[in-house]
Amino acid sequence: MPTPLLTVNALTKRFRANQSPTVKNINFSVYPGEIFALLGPSGCGKTTTLRIIAGFEQADAGTVVMDKRILTGDDIYVPPESRGIGFVFQDYALFPHKNVFENVAFGLRKATKKDRQERTLEVLSMVGMTDLQARLPHHLSGGEQQRVALARAIIARPKLLLLDEPFSSLDPGLRQTTREEVRALLKAEGISAILVTHAQEEALSFAERLGVMKDGTLEQVGTPEAVYQQPKTAYVADFLGQTNFIEAHVKNGFAQTPFGHVKVTGEAAGDALLSIRPECLKMLASDSWSSGAKTGRIVGQAFKGHDYTHRVEVGGRHYFVQNDYNCPFQIGDTVVLIAVSAVAVTPETQQTDGETDNVA
Ligand code: ATP
Repeated sequence: MPTPLLTVNALTKRFRANQSPTVKNINFSVYPGEIFALLGPSGCGKTTTLRIIAGFEQADAGTVVMDKRILTGDDIYVPPESRGIGFVFQDYALFPHKNVFENVAFGLRKATKKDRQERTLEVLSMVGMTDLQARLPHHLSGGEQQRVALARAIIARPKLLLLDEPFSSLDPGLRQTTREEVRALLKAEGISAILVTHAQEEALSFAERLGVMKDGTLEQVGTPEAVYQQPKTAYVADFLGQTNFIEAHVKNGFAQTPFGHVKVTGEAAGDALLSIRPECLKMLASDSWSSGAKTGRIVGQAFKGHDYTHRVEVGGRHYFVQNDYNCPFQIGDTVVLIAVSAVAVTPETQQTDGETDNVA
């Protein structure tokens, strides 16, 4: 494992004395050139964590170390402008009366005029904004403003760039292309980044590793594949995408379920809560061989263009199943569900039984 570029250790922040901390004992590292994401619902403390790393907010406890230099720690506080960290805000925070060139050049205030001129033109070219350099921000589209904010943030060649929901105000089509462009630019320049987002699909596609936050704490850190396919808790399983929860008895890594005898990954023995993604359930005709699986009836169907999500009632409970666009089954059909795999997860204190959105 290479030496981390950034290490956040036991970070804690409480805004009001009579309230629980907004950020509680957060620990993670970001490696050189790595793109990391903090993912979680609104209010879970993502932005606060990012602002402490940037130096806009002071921590009550914990340390932030970058390149072996303590930026935040006991009696140590390095101001934002001396941290060597770039920041792209959600609203881009461009100066309204400065044009594109001046906004970008502002990120390199300490350089000589000549160096500043050359580097500004270089980063404007990198983000494809050379032709619009004389425009004022309010004459730019959201995507163009985003590029200017990005150019301003990377002009001083930061080793680490912090991105606070930078794509959220773009429409869905532009969001994906902008995301891909930003990612390619970061990779080309070897800049590490931390993206803060509440959109799971964005975190999964943008980051190489991500941390899932809940109520100020980090529930799980891992690659997108690991947190999606091997969630440790019911919260992470649920937040990362639609899933089905069932209780089952696990013995020697297998469980007998309404979907047959299923291999269970994750730490479990005895009674356990299992998470089974809709794409891990296979729908078969009811007369198929089913290794003890029970029959069910399709009660809902959501067409998504490229595929369907069916809702199937088995033994009085509803389960989500993902099927191809050419699935032959319809609402009312009797079917058998077979689980390909299941993951044992730690239950939440208050576990909800499935979801009902997106399904008719
Ligand atoms: P969002 O996605 O909505 O931005 P978030 O996960 O980034 O949410 P934070 O912005 O870190 O969450 O806020 C976490 C909690 O801390 C919220 O309840 C917020 O109101 C509170 N909070 C943030 N900044 C301050 C502040 N300066 N003073 C008091 N409370 C604050």
